Amino acid sequence: MTPVFAWYSHDPARLEHRWAQALAGMKGMTPIKGFGCSDCDCQSHLFHTVAEPDLARFATTVGGPVETWLKPNPVPGARATPGTERA
Ligand SMILES: [Zn+2]
Repeated sequence: MTPVFAWYSHDPARLEHRWAQALAGMKGMTPIKGFGCSDCDCQSHLFHTVAEPDLARFATTVGGPVETWLKPNPVPGARATPGTERA
């Protein structure tokens, strides 16, 4: 499995639990069970999806800016672009 894009934040607040809950509620997300969540009740802090998720909807759900990383030469048809999505 090769990551093709990632969402992240430089916010000094710990957002991982809020983000994990938001991702868990999004259609098509598969949690990698137990990843990064040994100290909380989240199912996972890492998710996989075969379809490109809705970044604008995610940013609105979590209520803050979401930075994006895009693999150089991404898969054909990918719409994701690097940058920042603001809620
Ligand atoms: Zn958590």
